[in-house]
Amino acid sequence: MTDIEELLLSRIRDVADYPEPGVMFKDITPLLADPAAFTALTDALAEIAANTGATKVVGLEARGFILGAPVAVRAGLGFIPVRKAGKLPGATLGQTYDLEYGSAEIEVHAEDLFADDRILIVDDVLATGGTAEAAIQLIRRAGAEVAGLAILMELGFLGGRARLEPALTGAPLEAL
Ligand code: AMP
Repeated sequence: MTDIEELLLSRIRDVADYPEPGVMFKDITPLLADPAAFTALTDALAEIAANTGATKVVGLEARGFILGAPVAVRAGLGFIPVRKAGKLPGATLGQTYDLEYGSAEIEVHAEDLFADDRILIVDDVLATGGTAEAAIQLIRRAGAEVAGLAILMELGFLGGRARLEPALTGAPLEAL
């Protein structure tokens, strides 16, 4: 394990049975509270943004906002929030996706995405990949290109990477 992997991992708190029994919640608030860890994470994600040739960063509500916004600033890029349905005031594009029970919808302000944009999607945890898959579909439907997906932590046993590979069509999935 590299020094940065060790630092990041040491600042992620496992909370058992949250928000429901059987889930091991990965709490990133200790990492955010540690300036050395938060800066190292921001720098590493900004390097991915530069390497992928991204023109904008999309953050997924809500922790993708906290991680994605400083990455956009550090990389000199714009930031676009992808929000849960009903939160954005302007004209939106929406994408529904299946949850274990029921479904959810995410939205983006359509006018913020341009046809020549290359988008780096940022979030904290990749679990089943359902949220990221919906974000990829949303970005493509808006006419922009997906430059890659950058995640702090991937829960490999849930198979998110395998699910996303077809949707990513060769764009990188980087998990720190
Ligand atoms: P999924 O769509 O299943 O990949 O879930 C990803 C989204 O749910 C991300 O926005 C994560 O922040 C959140 N999430 C899922 N599982 C966890 C977990 N075990 N700990 C923290 N966040 C999680």
